[in-house]
Amino acid sequence: MNLNLKDKVYIVTGGSKGIGEGISRAIAEEGGIVVIATRSTGPVTIDFIAELQSQGVEAHAIYGDLQILENCENIIRETVTKYGRIDGIVNNAGMNDGAGLEKGPEAFRNSIKLNLFHYYDLVYYALPWLKESKGAVVNVSSKVALTGQGGTSGYAASKGAQLALTRDWAAELLPYSIRVNAVLPAEVMTPLYRKWLNNTFDDPTAKEKEISDKIPLGKRMTTKEEMAAMVVFLLSDKSAHTTGQFMVVDGGYMHLDRALT
Ligand code: NAP
Repeated sequence: MNLNLKDKVYIVTGGSKGIGEGISRAIAEEGGIVVIATRSTGPVTIDFIAELQSQGVEAHAIYGDLQILENCENIIRETVTKYGRIDGIVNNAGMNDGAGLEKGPEAFRNSIKLNLFHYYDLVYYALPWLKESKGAVVNVSSKVALTGQGGTSGYAASKGAQLALTRDWAAELLPYSIRVNAVLPAEVMTPLYRKWLNNTFDDPTAKEKEISDKIPLGKRMTTKEEMAAMVVFLLSDKSAHTTGQFMVVDGGYMHLDRALT
């Protein structure tokens, strides 16, 4: 199936690691131009960009912390200066930072800044170009937005707000044929997830198995490639009549009875 992403320009935040890396690869495989906006300045991004370029893919990294508003404005400016267009934004960068109720107001505010504001800021600055291209936005949220988790107020509030923004922007941007959808992962093995397992549990391997065993479809975690497949579909013309939707890609973790064997 040709998704018709060829030579179109997509910004992926956090696009060199974890789910974002999977999304960047999937866009590249479809012939799209990938702009990775990240604060990961080391080999993880440099080597990844070099790998994509060695395969003939047009790929570019823009470095900076997305929590800083000027960086978001710069990402859009630099992308347009270099490529002259923007066809899609994948808001993906974020982390579950455990800013729970007991951590206090400052931690809560910091968490919102870490996880939410840049989702708005990038789309705000990209809007003129998205109008021109009739582009698409995909917000990577989390199952936590719908289930809660406990002990992570800032992250849960941000992820929930991302879903609200998805619906609000889908409505607001109808006249411009800009589609806005959200993807909700549950359990995907990424560098961040691995770090959390290793730092939180005495026996991370046993914990990983315990979590995987609760996932109805296949008793395994979702892969970043499976997340990316949904995202590129939502960026593409093949989803031309899909907007304002929450796509839960989780092997049935959230909706099927976890006790099913
Ligand atoms: P990851 O492995 O940590 O990758 C995220 C990337 O985004 C990293 O390169 C990170 O840089 C970058 N990033 C984070 N905050 C940034 C900021 N403020 N400015 C610039 N770059 C930033 O994470 P992941 O597990 O793939 O998660 C991706 C998204 O999926 C997140 O929104 C997360 O909440 C969501 N999610 C993931 C899971 C899961 O199971 N993995 C489940 C539900 C939802 P650093 O490495 O420097 O932090």
